[in-house]
Amino acid sequence: MQDVPLTVTRILAHGSTVHANAHVTTWTGEGAPRRRSFAEVGARATRLAHALRALGVREGDPVGTLMWNNADHVEAYLTVPSMGAVLHTLNLRLPPEQLAWIVRHAADRVVIVNGSLLPLLAPLLPHLDCVEHVVVSGPGDLSALEGCRPQVHAYDELIAGSPAESYDWPELDERQAAALCYTSGTTGDPKGVVYSHRSIYLHAMEVNAAASFGLKPGETCLPVVPMFHVNAWGLPHAAFMAGTSLLMPDRFLQPAPLAEMIESERPTVTAGVPTIWQGLLAELDAKPRDVSSLRTVVSGGSACPPSLMKAFEERHGLTLVQAWGMTETSPLGTVAHPPPGLGAEEAWPYRITQGRMPVSVEARLIGPGGETLPWDGRSAGELEVRGPWIAGAYHGGADGEPQRPEDKFSEDGWLRTGDVGTITADGFLTLTDRAKDVIKSGGEWISSVELENHLMAHPQVAEAAVVAVPDEKWGERPLAAVVLKDGSSVGYEGLRAFLSERIARWQLPERWALVPAVPKTSVGKFDKKVLRRQYADGELV
Ligand code: ADP
Repeated sequence: MQDVPLTVTRILAHGSTVHANAHVTTWTGEGAPRRRSFAEVGARATRLAHALRALGVREGDPVGTLMWNNADHVEAYLTVPSMGAVLHTLNLRLPPEQLAWIVRHAADRVVIVNGSLLPLLAPLLPHLDCVEHVVVSGPGDLSALEGCRPQVHAYDELIAGSPAESYDWPELDERQAAALCYTSGTTGDPKGVVYSHRSIYLHAMEVNAAASFGLKPGETCLPVVPMFHVNAWGLPHAAFMAGTSLLMPDRFLQPAPLAEMIESERPTVTAGVPTIWQGLLAELDAKPRDVSSLRTVVSGGSACPPSLMKAFEERHGLTLVQAWGMTETSPLGTVAHPPPGLGAEEAWPYRITQGRMPVSVEARLIGPGGETLPWDGRSAGELEVRGPWIAGAYHGGADGEPQRPEDKFSEDGWLRTGDVGTITADGFLTLTDRAKDVIKSGGEWISSVELENHLMAHPQVAEAAVVAVPDEKWGERPLAAVVLKDGSSVGYEGLRAFLSERIARWQLPERWALVPAVPKTSVGKFDKKVLRRQYADGELV
């Protein structure tokens, strides 16, 4: 067979010609949304490539993006790797020092930034010697950049002033770096994961497989998951492959505008973390909208409470599909579609698992003594994975060697996920916890996720997070931090009683805290590190 490289260049060329009439719609908050056809994106990509080359961007150079989900970001996504440069998505919710550390570690030469994010970038620039050019997309207060060292350009002016004639896209090696994304660094410094052209291409094909999300021509996909969170889970690439239009929320990620854009633009597929769906549910409960266009709502990034899935289904007719993954897994690792032919009730126990691996992702469970455990649905161990879109090392920085820390990679090169769970004989993964969040009480393990899921099924509970707190007698015990719905009156005793009907007595938390909101990480997950710090003791009940 011919050995043709699998590259992002191919995805760009295919989408902008074969699917020329599909479009990227960017929500503007007020007035009409902005639409750009895939053909226009392709034409602008040509100009952007000329412009970036004129700025000195060469093969292998990292180009940072500090941007919301919008059409300009999609252009950068496809153009930068196609030039042979490396697209480095920057997480705009990170603390400024961490953001600066990441830009320096990656040695970004150019940063493309949305004008609305200049107040975040401008104060960092004096500490970012590597950055030579700042390209500003969309409106913003440019005075923030006065006197800054890097040269400043307006994105649209760069595009308008660049040649429209074809760009000599280089012949790339499919194994070369295409994109770079850092983990959110919940423990220690953030770690960079480098995606190759090949990994992005194969991953996007899997996103489009029927066993995953099955994007199709004529459909519209709404990635609520930010483009800086693991490449928006591969959806922009997958959409350009499949001819699926993209609806981009820009900075309008609050429940009300999300509900509004779903009603008016009628997307068929959407994806985000459970906290986003929790917010949307409350919004729809308070003010119902027509969301019937959605065939699939993908929930990933942390465990999806079954009560949330049920509520969406019963009250709004929406199907949540759970998926599991990590920055290191591109991220598609599992998707929870039930086996075919089951009725709703029989399908339910499968749907609340993390799901099954696609053919390219191999998984094994490792026990405490390093032994490989059987797929029997009972034996719990740490999940290790390998495959063509699973990281084999972390980015060593501009001049550094790739890093393979022992706690992250096994001796034979599998990725240690840090997640603990079981796998059934037919491949359904159930995660009980992250290894670092499991509560080790007197030699037994309590799953924080299980307690959270039960608590969030209580009709008066809006959110609940459970963390381990030190205990003299048992080593660790669970502390439950609960956010009550407005007007709720249930007390700790009531919640304990509710839990005691569902879990073993020894697992019941003694320590409780009522909190106004569960603290969230930069990608919207429960921040258990902060919770442990803030509520070390809780109230004894
Ligand atoms: P971070 O580690 O900074 O949170 P990632 O997005 O890479 O960034 O997080 C990956 C982790 O998120 C996984 O290792 C797992 O613990 C958790 N996770 C992702 N999806 C799910 C899911 N569906 N159910 C439970 N946990 C999940």
